Amino acid sequence: MNQNVAKSAPFLVFTDLDGSLMEHESYSMEAAKPALAELARRGVTPIFASSKTAVEILEAQRASGITAPFICENGAAVYNSSGQFLTAFGLPRTSWLLAVHQLRKRLSLRFTGFSDWPAEKIAEQTGLSRADAGKAQRREFTEPILWQDTKVNFQLFKSEIQRLSLTTLEGGRFISIQSQFDKGKAMKWWQARQSQPRPFLIALGDSPNDLSLLAAADVAVVIKSGKSNDLDPQGPATVIRTSIAGPAGWNDGIRQILNLLDSQQLLIN
Ligand SMILES: [Mg+2]
Repeated sequence: MNQNVAKSAPFLVFTDLDGSLMEHESYSMEAAKPALAELARRGVTPIFASSKTAVEILEAQRASGITAPFICENGAAVYNSSGQFLTAFGLPRTSWLLAVHQLRKRLSLRFTGFSDWPAEKIAEQTGLSRADAGKAQRREFTEPILWQDTKVNFQLFKSEIQRLSLTTLEGGRFISIQSQFDKGKAMKWWQARQSQPRPFLIALGDSPNDLSLLAAADVAVVIKSGKSNDLDPQGPATVIRTSIAGPAGWNDGIRQILNLLDSQQLLIN
């Protein structure tokens, strides 16, 4: 692996939201404010890369006063900083959802997901308000589910949906049914559009659906969570694991990176 010390090269920050920049339960970003302010001082605005829908991310940006491009639905699509759709990597949910439900019926599998639930139920499952749950329902590429069946049947389900060109990806709360795309691929697509010298990549995440993002970055921050011990990104020249969860961990991770950068000790690929 090629490793270099990062100097004054520009960099981009891609971040997961739930359990990373946002508290898992309250969705607050408050504890990350010092690091966000320091990044802003350096002219860097975090690019949200979340399983959330485009409308939800636009709302999160508005609430935090952030204007930036973003990646929605686990890497399914990329939007620019004006909130305009740029590209999609995913098969539309409407093209496969019926087949998945037919499969569930045929094999008598037990799972339920966003398309089965009224907004009230989504609000109950996520702690979102009823209005925000409505925004979470507006999915174009992913179907978040709760698996209520055996592990053996989950493997059976996974192999069956492969024939539909679908897969599953585990997030903090739900398992996502979707086609073959991930946050890492969407991040690299965005990086390739940047002018030379290409910015190096810092990524932060806490769950298995962030692994592709962390692995494709130069510098990865694994935010502590119930699932973070299983995350072992191999690609980055620098991997930082926080001892604190959520936005406080996010704040700490960014602080550590900026200290390394300022003392010319930050290794990048
Ligand atoms: Mg998360």
